[in-house]
Amino acid sequence: MDDAQPVDRRPRRVMDSPEPESLEGGCHCGAVRYRVTVWSRDAVECNCSVCTKKGYLHLIVQETDFELLRGADAVTTYTFGTQTAQHHFCRHCGVHSYYRPRSHPDQIDVNVRCLDGVEPSDFQVSVFDGRNWEDSVEELRARQRARH
Ligand SMILES: [Zn+2]
Repeated sequence: MDDAQPVDRRPRRVMDSPEPESLEGGCHCGAVRYRVTVWSRDAVECNCSVCTKKGYLHLIVQETDFELLRGADAVTTYTFGTQTAQHHFCRHCGVHSYYRPRSHPDQIDVNVRCLDGVEPSDFQVSVFDGRNWEDSVEELRARQRARH
């Protein structure tokens, strides 16, 4: 008999498995629902002015790994500064469940806190220094590229 192995408490890494997982999520009232293909449970916390106030936890995915199931007509958009990021939110309940990020305008950024059946602690969270966006963005882009 083998000795008992220590319990591995690290977040489960999907990269360890060849199969991606399919998760669903959406806003609070249910008007906005989406399905996302997650290849790796890596999330990003950003300290910029808007993410701090929203408490957003970012999961950046390819557009082809994101499917809006319903709510295109329920979504409205907040922009500021460069107007590049499209901060979508549900006009009924106000929840920001996904958006198009300034760092990756051709991709979709899903709010981990809006995904069904997972907790933020199930993800490896790295920090993006969004307060110093220009100085930090290339590192974030390189990290994202390394995952695909
Ligand atoms: Zn809603």
